[in-house]
Amino acid sequence: MAYWLQCIECSRKYEKRDIVYTCPHCNGLFEVKYDLDEVSKIIAGHEEFKRRNQGIWSYREILPIEKETNPISLQEGGTPLYHCKKLGNELGIKKLYVKHEGMNPSGSFKDRGISVGVTKAIALNFDAVACASTGNTSASLAMYSAYAGIKCFVLLPEGAVAIGKVSQAMIHGAEIIKIKGNFDFALELVKSLTTDPEKGIYLLNSVNPFRLEGQKTIGFEIFEQLGEVPDNIVVPTGNAGNISAIWKGIKEFKYLGFIEKIPRMISIQSKGASPIVRAIKNNYEKIQPILAPETIATAIRIGNPVNAPKALRAIKESNGIALAVYDEEIIQAQKDLARLEGIGVEPASAASIAGVKNLFKNGQIDKDEKTVCIATGHVLKDPDEIVAVCKEPMKLFEDEESLRAFVEKRLSSF
Ligand SMILES: *Cc1c(COP(=O)(O)O)cnc(C)c1O
Ligand SMILES: [Zn+2]
Repeated sequence: MAYWLQCIECSRKYEKRDIVYTCPHCNGLFEVKYDLDEVSKIIAGHEEFKRRNQGIWSYREILPIEKETNPISLQEGGTPLYHCKKLGNELGIKKLYVKHEGMNPSGSFKDRGISVGVTKAIALNFDAVACASTGNTSASLAMYSAYAGIKCFVLLPEGAVAIGKVSQAMIHGAEIIKIKGNFDFALELVKSLTTDPEKGIYLLNSVNPFRLEGQKTIGFEIFEQLGEVPDNIVVPTGNAGNISAIWKGIKEFKYLGFIEKIPRMISIQSKGASPIVRAIKNNYEKIQPILAPETIATAIRIGNPVNAPKALRAIKESNGIALAVYDEEIIQAQKDLARLEGIGVEPASAASIAGVKNLFKNGQIDKDEKTVCIATGHVLKDPDEIVAVCKEPMKLFEDEESLRAFVEKRLSSF
């Protein structure tokens, strides 16, 4: 299918084979555009995608990869959507759903984008890729690079990446580079490493417009799984690639006539790292970066979100909301989801649930609305956080008698 890159600021077009991450003319972000009229001639209806049952690659005609190219796929996508009845009842919202992106191959939604991104890297003849990461992108990129047999560099802010994520990058054989400084600085460094495409390293941060195309499939799946478009899609927001990608996909489905209604895009950030929330609240044209972002949810500890211009548009165009939550609320939501629903997620993911709780209290979400929270990453990503917030002491027993006494006491208080 015909596609090209287009700058979201100055609308200049670039060829799909041009290796450009941001607009050479105005430094704006790129978006992949398709000839959607052509697509609608080939695809009769959305059911056709669903029938293929191949995760993100079901949507090939609206992914930026040529038909002849073999996808680098580890069966990403096709994640479960859970109706959280107990948690919903507790919050007062009957139609609360969680899309568990932790069920992707490396345990986060990043796999959707990285699958497309690594496929693109190979198609463009790169044999090395790089990213800066708060952890999950590095885990995913390490995994897909290993599978594809290419070299992978990951730049991680020192001391700020959860152990589950670093260990994934390690076992899959990535070159791990620790950076003195935060994520925003690591991103600056990796951008400069990859500005010269002649050097042969392909950049796979979420500034890469091809990568975001993989992530837009989250929205498609929600629609297929619910059988309709929900009222709200709630997305924990760091670099803001994911919320932008999902919104882009929704608009494409609408253009193709597969859906009519659109959801409100709701961005949730942590109080200590909420530049998008501030920009929406104050009606700024552009975000003001936060110099020292801080939150227990390391996956969204980002002060200068690369995709902010896209995310601000997504929130405004969809009549959406941006809200910040406290770390304590994130931890509580993480526990609630785990204990009431059996869904284990990392802290950043739980921000979406914490956000919904507050929005219902504020009257910004109605009790009858269908709301889908994106649980972005798996609980095993950050075991240190869990041990720190779950204070149950582990007892040591030496004999059967004291063990029995303990168990009986606990049973009677259950
Ligand atoms: C990457 C990530 C996010 C943030 O996504 P953005 O696209 O950067 O906004 C949120 N949660 C988890 C678990 C992530 O890995
Ligand atoms: Zn431009």
